Amino acid sequence: MTRQTKRSEELFRRSLDSMIEGGSSPSRGPANYGDYPLFMERAEGAHIFDVDGNRYLDWMMSYGALPLGHAHAEVVAAIQQAAAEGTHFASATEIEIEVAELLQKMIPGAERVRFANTGTEATMAAIRLARGYTGRPKFVKFEGQYHGWFDDFLVNSHPHPIASLGHRNDPVKIPDSSGLNRHALDDTILLPWNDMTAVERAFETWGGQIAAVITEGVIANMGVIPPAPGYLKAVRQLTRQHDTLLILDETVTGCRVAPGGCQEYYEVHADIVTLGKGLGAGLPVAAFVGRAQVMEALAWGGVLHYGTQNASRIGMHAARANLECLLRDDGAAIKHTWRIGEALCNGLSEIFERTSTPAIVQHVGPMLQILFTEKRTIGDYREFCSFVDRDRYRRFALALFEHGVYMTPSAALHSVASLAHTDDDVAFTLEAVDKVLSSAG
Ligand code: PMP
Repeated sequence: MTRQTKRSEELFRRSLDSMIEGGSSPSRGPANYGDYPLFMERAEGAHIFDVDGNRYLDWMMSYGALPLGHAHAEVVAAIQQAAAEGTHFASATEIEIEVAELLQKMIPGAERVRFANTGTEATMAAIRLARGYTGRPKFVKFEGQYHGWFDDFLVNSHPHPIASLGHRNDPVKIPDSSGLNRHALDDTILLPWNDMTAVERAFETWGGQIAAVITEGVIANMGVIPPAPGYLKAVRQLTRQHDTLLILDETVTGCRVAPGGCQEYYEVHADIVTLGKGLGAGLPVAAFVGRAQVMEALAWGGVLHYGTQNASRIGMHAARANLECLLRDDGAAIKHTWRIGEALCNGLSEIFERTSTPAIVQHVGPMLQILFTEKRTIGDYREFCSFVDRDRYRRFALALFEHGVYMTPSAALHSVASLAHTDDDVAFTLEAVDKVLSSAG
């Protein structure tokens, strides 16, 4: 197979005079892609095409933003119509209520809804809301979880050498960026995840000062790491005992793991839930939803959340089309993504075993990640940092590009099945994986 990526290379060189690393986020640049990223041009269903005309089966799906796949006909029609009527009014609109009502149907405890544009905005507002509502300064954030690029939680979201992490009873806070507000992390209590004793200890120490615990239901930015049985419920119980709010960050898992996300799947009820990615079908739509009593604190800007672009008309119309498709036929689309996810994971596990490759695949429904490791499971951030060979994964994912399969080249991110993926796509992927592993030796 002779894949040419000359035009991507040319565009990358050209971009360097106007942009940083060829794009608008470091995760799209050489840090993950090597010498230069692929420049993508168009996409349809489960496939994406680069500027050199190469076709790839896409398991990245815009970092999970496309549960229906690319250019789903109903979403495209909704966007076209909304655009022709005026892109955005920045005023109250009926479509906003309709999307809010759909979310109320889907998401347990979504008594009130507020729209934002990105997952970062939603989580940032949720933390402010929790602090404003409770009058308490601190919040708990877990190692290895990413909630966006806001200063207060931009800590230990990247993998680091295990020796730099400190003792798990008192994790060392490693900021993920320069330039953070010097005091931003003072009220951030960093804890290991899937470790109830650590949460209990934090409440014994700081009890009445903790406004919120923020957690993903499934870690989606350190491979895929599911919660230990009963863990989320235990966190819920403890937070309730201390009048602390539970913020469930469902930016990735919302509209994906189940119509009601991890709340439904793991039977846990949060006070505030944040949504992004899968909500807008590729348009920047995010939301935070929750108990009316808590959300009321936003009234009159008491806890301030502004945004010119909030609930943009095009985004809202795309979201309505997206949610209607996801809810149709008793959630058939989500069930399809589970079936495809399971088939892919089973096939991958079979190949790893047959070829004696030191790799495992971890998944929850449609979300999955391949981890090159000698371990049988990776249960938290520290295990990920200690035992996962990230370079090997990156070489593997880049080699898959050669065979027309596009998975994230970052071992810390994940792949995801969409409504557009088929059994043939699974077979195509497994064949490519087989070829890559047999040629890598
Ligand atoms: N929370 C989680 C769990 C995420 O995975 C992400 C994005 N990867 C965010 C929040 C931030 O979302 P956004 O990129 O839309 O700001």
